[in-house]
Amino acid sequence: MDPIGTFGASSYSTRDLQLFRDADDPIIGQMLAPCAVIRVAAGRRVEDGMRARLYIVLSGMLEVAPDAHSGSEDSGVSRVLPGESVGEQAVLDDAVNLAAMTALEDCELLVIEPELVWQLIDRSNVLARNLLRLLSFRVRHANAQLKRRQRLGEFYRQLSLNDGLTGLYNRAWLGEMLPKLAARARQDGSPLSIIMIDLDHFKRFNDTHGHLAGDAALSSAAGVIRESLRPSDFAVRYGGEELMAVLPDTPAAQAEMVAERLAERLRTTMVFPDMRLPLPHITGSFGVASLAPGGDEHALMAAADAALYRAKQAGRDRVSV
Ligand code: GH3
Ligand code: MG
Ligand code: MG
Repeated sequence: MDPIGTFGASSYSTRDLQLFRDADDPIIGQMLAPCAVIRVAAGRRVEDGMRARLYIVLSGMLEVAPDAHSGSEDSGVSRVLPGESVGEQAVLDDAVNLAAMTALEDCELLVIEPELVWQLIDRSNVLARNLLRLLSFRVRHANAQLKRRQRLGEFYRQLSLNDGLTGLYNRAWLGEMLPKLAARARQDGSPLSIIMIDLDHFKRFNDTHGHLAGDAALSSAAGVIRESLRPSDFAVRYGGEELMAVLPDTPAAQAEMVAERLAERLRTTMVFPDMRLPLPHITGSFGVASLAPGGDEHALMAAADAALYRAKQAGRDRVSV
């Protein structure tokens, strides 16, 4: 089959162009004939005066950086090779073309004004179909990129809300979630309890067994707490050796029982820093409090803190309410 159209000084054929693939209507070649072919030297930007036009790379290679205002960290830069087009989306939705196009090599570009794009679509079903296919590919690609970015964002979010040593939720999580849990409890009229836990004589533990053993003990304590709670509860490390259990839908009496269970398990947990030393045990002091009617998370924390203080005063390794 003969080429159905040539443009510029060269012998480019429309059949080599993605958008015109299988469009063998000779009129298309005639319609394209008056289109400008511009040359862009390597390293230069395509100056488009912000007007949306369809560009088709005839030779060379273009680099397209997406809308600078989208502020994506994932660069999303794409390369456009001979036969491929850029700008079709901006032309179709009549938007300003914000993508920065730079020639990576000396380029020849066929420039199609938006009015002509519409005329071509009206004229050729094949072209319309090619365009749909191309746009659908672009949408799919953009969606995949978005999903990837969302997953990455979620990953970093999780990272920022978890404590690195113990894997428990951290203080940032507590600051974000406790007000929400308190608000929900108030709204539903459901109970909400917390257990504040401070490991006993932990400075002494570090002094005796070393800081690394202290870290291991903290991890063991965190594990004990995490594994002793229901799936709907939350285990938090909100300070150095200060941990917390957040128990939604749990009244005070039940929370106290949970705290007693935690105290018992912690007491019997052994940490193994060094086989030459006697197996060290850790204990904790526990302060239990429940959301008072009309109370907020600050009052709840203060009440648990006061209860924890009483547990320390009363001799540690025990639960106070
Ligand atoms: P008390 O029974 O009154 O709570 O005594 P304590 O020694 O536990 O109290 P204090 O708050 O004075 O000391 C807390 C200690 O916990 C001091 C600090 O070195 C230790 N600690 C805090 N965070 C970490 C940690 O991440 N790793 C280790 N190994 N130790 C920690
Ligand atoms: Mg402490
Ligand atoms: Mg302590």
